[in-house]
Amino acid sequence: MTALVPPARVALIGLGNMGRPMGGCLQRAGYRVTGFDVSDDARNAFASASGAQVAADAASAVRDADVVITMLPTGRIVRDLLGALMTQLRPGAVVIDMSSSEPMGTRELGETLIAAGFGFIDAPVSGGVRRAVDGSLSIMVGGDVATIDRVEPVLKAMGRTIFRTGLLGSGHAMKALNNYVSGAGLIAACEAVNVGKAFGLDSGLMIDVLNASTGRNNSTEVKMKQFILSQTWGSGFSVGLMAKDIRSANDLAHALGVPVPLADHCADLWDDAAKTIGGASDHTEIQRYLDNVKV
Ligand code: NAD
Repeated sequence: MTALVPPARVALIGLGNMGRPMGGCLQRAGYRVTGFDVSDDARNAFASASGAQVAADAASAVRDADVVITMLPTGRIVRDLLGALMTQLRPGAVVIDMSSSEPMGTRELGETLIAAGFGFIDAPVSGGVRRAVDGSLSIMVGGDVATIDRVEPVLKAMGRTIFRTGLLGSGHAMKALNNYVSGAGLIAACEAVNVGKAFGLDSGLMIDVLNASTGRNNSTEVKMKQFILSQTWGSGFSVGLMAKDIRSANDLAHALGVPVPLADHCADLWDDAAKTIGGASDHTEIQRYLDNVKV
């Protein structure tokens, strides 16, 4: 099977914060990209930012595509969409779910798609909007090796580090677990700053100390000063999506019978935050939730 190099045709479904810049990278790499999103605003923004084509509906976007990429909010949406589109896909097309979906649902979807003769891999990403823009995402890829080999050039157009994590669903498992570690670290940093402030420590100085010490994590490095202390709340990743990912990691732990007392509490906190401040709020606004939480 030949590798799918430019100018292969790529359909990209989901043109939000991440899909839009990822599609731009594919277009610049020479792929013939057709995007689709249910939102008119997202379709227009994608067309004007990338110069790529947009389709009026999902079926027209995928019909001629060699590769179909989904970058959608949840695995449920991905499964519903691909279930409805199965009869529209080109024979032999490869589907890549780059959304952060639930690993067990991905395996179920894979059974259907692969039995129907399509390639299917999961390839969720990490690095946020900034790294989606410059094509330097980390990509965690699960699935059949020959299928991954075929689409590796497509993934390399969007990411710098491509990890092959194992069987189908393993990328999604890894992604959910990554976001559990990330989301727990963010809450720990916010709580530490709140306590320090109450004691009289300077918040900016605290972040400098953490970043030079063992408390350093991704949130202390790229979120605390940039979005939280500055109160700009503009990371481009919503609290609802973070809550979904941490719940997905927690559900996986329970399905496998692995005790995770901290993840149990963390998943509840993020769910409550999404409910309290609204799922569309930026996930760095967890600070606003923690400022007001009743214990
Ligand atoms: P987003 O909400 O900005 O974009 C999702 C887009 O999907 C929206 O434009 C929405 O209109 C569209 N959509 C929803 N249902 C649809 C359907 N049935 N058909 C077509 N379009 C549909 O979300 P995002 O931040 O771009 O995240 C996308 C995925 O990537 C999520 O699974 C998220 O967890 C994951 N992710 C996000 C980030 C980030 O920093 N934002 C980082 C890594 C992974």
